[in-house]
This record gives sequence, C-alpha cells and structure tokens, in this order.
Amino acid sequence: MKQLLTGDEAIARGAYEAGVHFASAYPGTPSTEILESISNYKEVCAEWAPNEKVALESAIGASIVGGRALAAMKHVGLNVAADPFFTFAYTGVNGGTVIITADEPGQHSAQNEQDNRNYAKAAKVPMFEPANSQECRDMVIEAYHISEQYDCPVLIRMTTRVCHGKSIVTLGERKEVPIKEYLKDVKKYVCVPANAKGLRRNLEVKLEKLKAFAETTAFNFTEMNDSKIGVITSGACYHYAKEVFEDKASYLKLGFTYPMPDEKIIDFCRKMDTIYIIEENDPYIEERVKILGFNCHGKDLLPKYGEMTPDVIKKAFFNLENSLITYPDGMIVDRPPTLCAGCPHRGFFFELGKRKNVMVSGDIGCYSLGFAKPYNAMDSLICMGGGFSIGHGAQKIFNMKKEEKMRVVSVLGDSTFLHSGITSLMDVVYNNSNTVSVILDNRITGMTGHQENPGTGYNAKGEEASAVDIEGIVRALGIKHIRTVNPNQLKEMDKVLDEFLELDEPSVIITKWPCALKKFSIEDKKEFAGAFTLKMVINEDKCIGCKLCMKCGCPAIRFDSDKKQAAIDGIQCLGCGICNQLCPKNAIEWKEA
Ligand code: SF4
Ligand code: SF4
Repeated sequence: MKQLLTGDEAIARGAYEAGVHFASAYPGTPSTEILESISNYKEVCAEWAPNEKVALESAIGASIVGGRALAAMKHVGLNVAADPFFTFAYTGVNGGTVIITADEPGQHSAQNEQDNRNYAKAAKVPMFEPANSQECRDMVIEAYHISEQYDCPVLIRMTTRVCHGKSIVTLGERKEVPIKEYLKDVKKYVCVPANAKGLRRNLEVKLEKLKAFAETTAFNFTEMNDSKIGVITSGACYHYAKEVFEDKASYLKLGFTYPMPDEKIIDFCRKMDTIYIIEENDPYIEERVKILGFNCHGKDLLPKYGEMTPDVIKKAFFNLENSLITYPDGMIVDRPPTLCAGCPHRGFFFELGKRKNVMVSGDIGCYSLGFAKPYNAMDSLICMGGGFSIGHGAQKIFNMKKEEKMRVVSVLGDSTFLHSGITSLMDVVYNNSNTVSVILDNRITGMTGHQENPGTGYNAKGEEASAVDIEGIVRALGIKHIRTVNPNQLKEMDKVLDEFLELDEPSVIITKWPCALKKFSIEDKKEFAGAFTLKMVINEDKCIGCKLCMKCGCPAIRFDSDKKQAAIDGIQCLGCGICNQLCPKNAIEWKEA
C-alpha cells in the first residue's frame, strides 16, 4: 500500500512496522509529529516525557530489558539528552534503539542552528540521514536491524524539510518482534570505570564493523552521469542538488553518514574532474573528503549557515539569481510575531513591561514574545529551563551593586518548568535568591501545538493521567512565598508584582489561565467556567480615540483611522478583558459570544 506521508509520519510508520514497543519524546519543531503519529498505534506504548533526557533515559530502560525503543527530539533536545546519549553508545542495547534528532538549518523556530551529525561522531553512534519520507520509513526499519546486529543505539538525523515535506511511501505490515529476554549484565550496563573501560574498547571494534557496513549499504549509492562534476551530498540537499545540476553531474548520495564510507568516497572522487560537496550546516562531509586527500568545493562557495535551497546553490555555483516578484511598497503589511488574541500572557507582560529597574530573564516558549513590542519585557533567553537560574545569577551580581536597585523577574511556562525549570528553581531556593520567579501556567504545552504534559492530567494517548501539582512542587522545593493569580486581572497582577518585588527572599508567582487556543478539558471547563464565553465591542458613542487600548498589543484591536476610533475584530476577540481594563471611558463593552 502507498500513502502520502510527512517524514515525521514516515518515521513513526517505520518504527511501527519494525515492531517498536516503546517510544518517548519531548515536543519540539520539527520533530513533534513523530510521537503524535506513533501514539496512534495501539501496539506501541507512546509517551510525552518532561524533557529529552528523560525521554532517552526511559527508552534506554525499555531497551535494556529487551524492548525495541525510540526517542525523538529536536536538535537542541539532544543537548539535553547528551549525557545518557554518550554513555548509551558504550553500553549498547538489548532491544534495538533509535534516537531521532530533527535539525533546523535556517533556524525557523529555534534558538540556534546546530549540526547534530557532529554528535554521532563525538559519541561514536552510527547515523542515518534520510532525504525523503520513503527513506525515513526504510531507514528506521534498517536502523533497528543495525542496532541489534551491532549492539549500538542508532541516530537518525532529520532536517526541517525532511520532517515536514510529504512524499509517497510504500508501506509494509507491522512485524511483531518478541521482547528479548532480560539477562542481568552488570559489566555491560553498570558504567563504573572498571566496566566502562572495557566497553570503550568494544566500541572501537563495533565501529570497525560499522565502517564495513557503510561501504556496502544500499543507502549510500552513486548515480553516474557526466564525470566532469561529482556531487557528494546527503539529506534534503540531495534533492536540491539534483534540481540544480540535473543529469549534468554524477552523485554520491550518502544516507548512512557515520561512520563514513571512505572507500566509496575515494572511488567516486577518483572518477570525477571536480567535486562539489552540498550539505547544510557544518562541512561534515567536506572535511572527510579533504582528509581522504581530495580537493573539493563546498563551504568556500556555499554559505556557512542556513538552508541550501536550489536558489542558494544556483547562486553559489553559477552566480545565477531568480528574478524576484516585486510589489509596491506598503502593499504587504509588516506583521511581526505577536501573542494571540486572548493570550493569558498578555496581561502579565503588560504589567511587567511597565516596570523600571527590572531585568527579565526569559525562557523558551510562545511567551518568549514578551521580549517584543509593545511589552519589551524580556532581557535574556538562552535555553530551555534556564530562565530561573540565569535570573538568579544576574540578581546575585545586581545585589553587589545595591545602589542600582535592580531586581530580576524570571519567567518560564508550565511545560518548561516541568521540563527542566524545577532544578533551575531549586538553585534559586538553595542559594537563597531574591529573584521573583514566575511560572506562566497556560495549562498546556503551547508553542509546539498543545501536547499534553505531566501537569495537564492527560497522557500522549489522550487517556487520563495523574496531574502534577505545580504549586505543590514549588512548595516542596522550599519556596514560602507563592501566589497563584489570573493574569487577565490587571490590577491584581500589578499588585502581586509590586508585593513580590518588595520581598528579599525566593518567591514564585504562578499565573494560571488556559491558552487562548486550547481545547478545554473537562477539568478546565470546571476550573475556568465562563472563560471565552463573552467578546468585547467598541461603544462608538463613548470612544474618544485615545488609543490607550492599543497598548495591550492584542491583534484583535485596530485603530480605524477614518472613524478615529478603536475597532475590535469580533472573530478574533476571545473576551479576555485586558483592553476593557485600559479604556478610560468605559468604551469597550462585553457582549455575548
Ligand atoms: S478582550 Fe480585548 S484584549 Fe482580549 S482578545 Fe478581545 S480585543 Fe483582545
Ligand atoms: S482606550 Fe477606549 S476610548 Fe481610547 S481608543 Fe480605546 S476604546 Fe477608544
């Protein structure tokens, strides 16, 4: 049977067909849909983990006792999971294990652009790089064979276009693979130095065998045409290169890229007059080709970062540029990213942004937009879960310069708190910080598209689960000053911020209101009864056009310059009531939705 699938869906399908028993992931673009798709297969135990390290660790546990396991994450997630990743390379597997990293050349939604092929090399973990959905499905199945045959975890490195691009996939049936017997093996799985030294030696033996596999696998193949130009490429770049060079070049397409197939590369390069390396991010293949003694063109012509689209390749190798469609100035409205209409973070950032002498330490999530106009309420954003501890360090330095009276407010979301914010807050408590830590609890993992998390009361399969009590965790960490507020109530938000900024000890504010786009659970309906049942309208007899309501930055409000009055888009408005609290003339009124 054939089906049109994204790369993420095809990975899930391949894992299903390979008989995978256990899958765990933390959501993150462009990898999110892998676990979402796997969770539809009833045969597979599929879970959202609170972070990528936990996802990989639980997959390792499943593997040790004989199950086939999968862990998926976006590229920065492998940084979080790097600790178990490196040691897992030493122990090897019992049940086959595949780890997916979804890289983001061009940085569409991430805080950096990193090439996780380097992780395969650094950790000595074999790696596949699919170029389309069929390869995603086929390579996962092959990866499970390799994993069990060579006793190693296998990394599959995807990129955004492979994850989200759709192509036809020939499907097979699920092959039920029996869960292997678990035999206690301390020398293999207890990595104290005495055991780990032996495992380190074994790893080199495995890599030698994997080198031989790299030379013979059909996933590393050549397409011979003209010998004037030889292109060596991998992943989505294979398609880009073929679009530009067509059959005027020969290709060595690498699908298994660690360890590298040296003999295959040497053989190909010897036949070519000129060698081009087309790859995204780092000169990973290029460096190997040069080590093998061949001159080649790659990053000397291509940009060192961003996506290597056909346009970029044409410009680099032929100095050709597509003619651009021009349009009159002003035709396209400048539309920067903004918090949604009805977003519960708006009230909080509106109040926070008004404060002077406050540094705001932010974190990863849709609330990162608090840095933008009109709030300007974020000073730093480095990594997932680091907001509290980064803020703590900053406050300690500010405290040394008491005359400046600078205070730090640290901000992260509910899912981020559960991901790795807990240890960050532990640092704040343990080292007696006087930062104000704020958990923006919108009752869901918002930015990645509403995945459940340990705080929502539901699991990845939509079944009821125990809901972690965020306030209880904060209290258990030793925080004494905790307040939960509705961020849509501006006066209360303002008062609580003032009150907590006066404290000279660790404190936590939890703002609690559901994401504006959330499908309410039964519990939400009870807890937030009446939410989103009203809308706002402008009473044109009262509006004096002062534009104060525009300061909340809600995309549902605009200023009608003909009428010289505010106007509200009734389709977008969710009736959060923020704008209504800003109007000095009570010109913004409630109306039934
Ligand atoms: S009530 Fe006002 S601020 Fe809230 S969504 Fe509607 S227009 Fe926007
Ligand atoms: S704040 Fe009130 S009076 Fe001023 S523009 Fe907005 S709706 Fe009109």
